[in-house]
Amino acid sequence: MQLDANDPWSYVRGFQPVSLCDWPEKVSLVLFFGTCNLRCPTCHNWHLAVNPETLPLISRKAILAYLRSRRNWLDGVVISGGEPAGIPGLKDVCAAIKERGLPLKVDSNGLRPRILHDLLAADLVLQVAVDLKGPFAKYPELTGGRCSSRQAESAFASVFETAVEFGSRVSFRCTKVPALTREDIELARSCLPASHDLVLQDYVPRS
Ligand code: SF4
Repeated sequence: MQLDANDPWSYVRGFQPVSLCDWPEKVSLVLFFGTCNLRCPTCHNWHLAVNPETLPLISRKAILAYLRSRRNWLDGVVISGGEPAGIPGLKDVCAAIKERGLPLKVDSNGLRPRILHDLLAADLVLQVAVDLKGPFAKYPELTGGRCSSRQAESAFASVFETAVEFGSRVSFRCTKVPALTREDIELARSCLPASHDLVLQDYVPRS
């Protein structure tokens, strides 16, 4: 089924009813939104990022019904992808979930910093987790040529301002993909504001 630019719910192409690891210390529902502005060679959600139309649509009705039935079992909802930040009307999805009494976390590649800032400022999301893919110089290689070093540096300058403004509501993580050396990771870490640290994740090769 096609994505409908007027209906942000039409981007929901994956649904994990219970997760114990996508939001630390919370039992969460994870919604996976199709589409992404990058083409990272190490992507684990390639179909979701590139061909979301080929994946089954999870309807708004089914999601909200699940939230109603599990409200007392869940601590929150994680909006992941793909890359959700560029989806038109994402804030309406966030508002609908928040109205049902559950806090939200958004996972993002950080390249649409204004949207992340506005979601936090409007209190639509409690937490934003941003993937810093590596040092800015390696962004072209790490993103399949979709993001230049300059674009990454500019976007992250805004993300870092947002991180300083919202403190622990913004977190950063980096996956140790094979293209990154230890020096790359330390260089990426050194770009963060002093108030924030970089959480490292192991890379698991695609099977
Ligand atoms: S940003 Fe994430 S979802 Fe998009 S291509 Fe890269 S790894 Fe995949």
